[in-house]
Amino acid sequence: MKSIYSILLIFILIGCKGNSQETNKKTQKQYTVFKTENEWKESLPQMAYYVLRKSGTEIAFSGPLNNNKKEGIYVCAGCQSPLYKSEFKYDSGSGWPAFDRGIEKNLEYDVDYKIGYARSELSCNNCGGHLGHMFGDGPKNTTGNRHCINSAALNFIQTDEK
Ligand code: FE
Repeated sequence: MKSIYSILLIFILIGCKGNSQETNKKTQKQYTVFKTENEWKESLPQMAYYVLRKSGTEIAFSGPLNNNKKEGIYVCAGCQSPLYKSEFKYDSGSGWPAFDRGIEKNLEYDVDYKIGYARSELSCNNCGGHLGHMFGDGPKNTTGNRHCINSAALNFIQTDEK
């Protein structure tokens, strides 16, 4: 009889574990644009995949959009959702494109602790791609925020090309 209870207990424990994993999957956000890891890997340049899908960071001063001062719009390199306007861009001197604000409805904010302290992580709201981080050392005369964004996470559409 005791062994039956032991077997039952094991089934209950396995059942609970299964349920909690299922709940985690369900609570994960479903983005409008969904691709498998392999599909992302095949459809994106290597650096864009590393930044957007692996939350990587490109080397400072290495990105082609860091010094871009043209008028236009910055869209997500993963799904082309508009994220930043050129008038939000400023030179932070950090080596990454910096914006004092974004097109807020298309951005997602989260907190990560990857380097030991809390940072506000910025992602694309449409595909979930990692963009960069927000810091509070932006221009004091506007928002005071600095959206520090990887160049590889963005595509630039020049105004007169639209
Ligand atoms: Fe996106």
